[in-house]
Amino acid sequence: MSALAQSPTVRPRLGIAGIAIESSTFTPYRSSEADFEVRHGTEEILSRYPFEVPEAEYVGVLHARALPGGQLDRDTYEGWKAEIVDGLAAACENAPLDGFFFDIHGAMSVVGLDDAEGDLITAIRGAIGPDVVVGTAMDLHGNVSTTLFEACDLLTCYRHAPHIDAWETRERGLRDLVEASARVAAGGERPHKALVHLPILLPGEKTSTRIEPAKSLYARIPELTAREGVTDVSYWIGFAWADQPRCKAAIVAFGDDADAVDAAALELANAVWDKRHDFEFVAPTGTFDDCLEQAISSSLRPFWISDSGDNPGAGGADDTTYALARLLDRPEIRAGEVSALMVSLVDPESTSTAHALGMGARGEFRVGGRIDAREPGPVALRAEVTALDEAANTGHSAALRVLDGERETGLTVVVTARRSQWATRSMFARLGLSMTGFDVVTVKMGYLEPDQYEAAAGWLLALTPGGVDQDLRRLGHSRIDRPMIPFDAEIPAPTSEDVVTGGGR
Ligand SMILES: [Zn+2]
Repeated sequence: MSALAQSPTVRPRLGIAGIAIESSTFTPYRSSEADFEVRHGTEEILSRYPFEVPEAEYVGVLHARALPGGQLDRDTYEGWKAEIVDGLAAACENAPLDGFFFDIHGAMSVVGLDDAEGDLITAIRGAIGPDVVVGTAMDLHGNVSTTLFEACDLLTCYRHAPHIDAWETRERGLRDLVEASARVAAGGERPHKALVHLPILLPGEKTSTRIEPAKSLYARIPELTAREGVTDVSYWIGFAWADQPRCKAAIVAFGDDADAVDAAALELANAVWDKRHDFEFVAPTGTFDDCLEQAISSSLRPFWISDSGDNPGAGGADDTTYALARLLDRPEIRAGEVSALMVSLVDPESTSTAHALGMGARGEFRVGGRIDAREPGPVALRAEVTALDEAANTGHSAALRVLDGERETGLTVVVTARRSQWATRSMFARLGLSMTGFDVVTVKMGYLEPDQYEAAAGWLLALTPGGVDQDLRRLGHSRIDRPMIPFDAEIPAPTSEDVVTGGGR
């Protein structure tokens, strides 16, 4: 990889701040301060990085990160924005900043804003001025609006999904930023940068880099960055679950040779365009009923089904009851001939009812459908409390064995006080459950995490309704740019006319 041209030894002074969340505008869930881990000041923020940060003087202001969710409430956002802007303005009064690291995810939705990261970086630029070198390292599911591109000098993102290279990406982004900041502080040039937008929206479950075509597209990057004068090239898939004009794929490259940078960006953009119709789901898919039918009739045990439209890991509410109601309706499960586990629904009310009743007690519950009340809404059921627990990530939780009158059915439902993903064997064990102890296991997930993947003898991805519906055409986008794949049949191939450039002196 060709680094930016060698800089004289200047120890640059760098600000760090950011708000990192992936949030769907199609879920009724609203993310708020309580969903975030917030760090203040240099020491707390630097302790977030599990790598040795490059030599520089750092001024950390505020960093907030959350699990994927819904739109962030405006007051929380405006409060953090003011704290970041004021903190950076104060830092600049002490001594000028040479660089600023914008540590974000890139798919934050805030109530009333179409481009939250663009709004935040514009306010930050207002405080630090146009001369500071700004770098960002993002999730490949983030969006690169023209505003964000213009406000940043160096932009990079992950090259793997699942994101095994998240820290490696931030380390690379920070290292390149420190080098560029030192060089500009010594009177050198900023890197040249190029952006190509591609009107393609794809769900995460079609863009795993474990499978084609994403695998080969991302595998081209090392060859592009090895070219003389090219420092970094990135491909953002973009975020499909927000209805905003900025949501689309983006290719960004930067480096010292303008022609080489532009050519690398256009080349990768054309490679993506060539494969635009080749992205497929990571697993066989179907309606929930199709998947359940196959699971029950299969000899593979356990058979796992992903309730993908309500995956909290992508921003789903985590309480739609579509899958739960379909499980309850199956005669084989009601009769107890097939054992089934539904894990999990966030439902603080049912969870506290279970804890109040106590282990082994029986009672009436109304499960789920409180945040995302889409059909069929809260499900009334009678159940026995078979396990109780409390953990940091779930809050209180309970396992409920569903009853038909006083007779046990085959269905167990897990409810939690907090939105959570049941990805690990140890989480199941805390409630006395085994990942392999049921005929059919339904999880609110997209692609399975390693422990789940290992446990599942069979697996189907159910295209269920919800705030992160994998069938994008059902969501009802109305504000994205058109034409856009998959909503329109065809888009034109990118040309040199589509390359937006910046940087240099
Ligand atoms: Zn991501």
